[in-house]
Amino acid sequence: MTNPVNFTIAVFPGDGIGEEITEPCIKVLEKAIDKIGGFSATFEWLAAGATTYLETGESLPKRSMDKAREADAILLSAMGLPDVRYPDGTEISPQIEIRFELGLYAGVRPVRAIPGLAPTLLNPDAHKLDFVIIRESTEGLFASHGKGEIIDDKEARDTLVITRNVSERLFDFAFKLGQQRKKQGKLGHVTCVDKANVFKSFAFFRKIFDEQAEKFSDVESNHMYIDATALNMVRRPWDLDVLVTENMFGDILSDLGAGLIGGMGFAPSADIGDDNAVFQPCHGTAPDIAGKGLANPTAMFLSGAMMLSWLGDKHNFVPASQAGELVQAAIDAAFADGNLITGELGGKAGTNDVFTAVLNAIDTL
Ligand code: ATP
Repeated sequence: MTNPVNFTIAVFPGDGIGEEITEPCIKVLEKAIDKIGGFSATFEWLAAGATTYLETGESLPKRSMDKAREADAILLSAMGLPDVRYPDGTEISPQIEIRFELGLYAGVRPVRAIPGLAPTLLNPDAHKLDFVIIRESTEGLFASHGKGEIIDDKEARDTLVITRNVSERLFDFAFKLGQQRKKQGKLGHVTCVDKANVFKSFAFFRKIFDEQAEKFSDVESNHMYIDATALNMVRRPWDLDVLVTENMFGDILSDLGAGLIGGMGFAPSADIGDDNAVFQPCHGTAPDIAGKGLANPTAMFLSGAMMLSWLGDKHNFVPASQAGELVQAAIDAAFADGNLITGELGGKAGTNDVFTAVLNAIDTL
């Protein structure tokens, strides 16, 4: 952040549909910033991902990582292609490396029904959906990323890691979010999702959760096993508020959450650490629809809105928060009349249709 206020944003367009939704997103954010006024943003495009790996032999060049670390925030689209792999057979996924490198332990995955979108669940309460999954993003089963072993072609092992240091900060983050949501008139209830009845690691996770809960006596909390959570996310998801969980469980639950609100193209996310944060849609590079103009850019726009709000909160700078709210309001307005129907929901609206509708909504709001 410089004076007069200018935020530097590191942008990773990545691969597949990632590249297609990045430019529209930047244009939407710039338009909202111009409309609110009082600040600007410089977007610096950086190379990383499967295409970069094919071209240079590196998936996350040092220059890109250095620039990302220095930036005020990181806007990342999607990375990786199924046919481009490291010699050990795993997919190119610098987004995971960035989370580890910058210590982005709190993966924030909002599950909010956008008014005007046909709900996945037929229950009349489905339009009330508004909860957040906090996915721990630097350890858990993903701690084994690049380290798993196969022994004599007879046995394979990946180790799940839970540390006190990361878990305490993760739960603090979840409880603070619970407090914030309570102030906004929401439930303000934090649920620890685990499998503490079977695994020592999860019993430890739960113990630390209970310790942290004592510090936040104004926020209600409970525990739920991962299997019961999957059931409740389909049966009564409108009763949920803040769910906090291990990396792999959070990975799976976020896709389930995306399914509840219309598909991957509507699910934004943020990976937040003590100093840095990455904002990116929950979806991958969707090679099946890449290059066809069909990618829904809404999740990317919503991630951009989260980025502006986070910058506003972090720097106590109201115009950035207002610009974030404007982008979210424009998205809601674009879909409100029910006529903008994307491919995931059986309609024909593609990237450009959603982009144009959101830009127009920013003009008229
Ligand atoms: P990753 O493992 O990298 O997260 P994935 O295997 O979960 O990726 P995605 O790339 O997210 O897969 O795609 C899953 C499905 O959702 C595909 O059918 C894809 O076409 C669809 N999809 C993903 N993102 C979008 C989008 N923005 N718009 C429309 N459809 C999408």
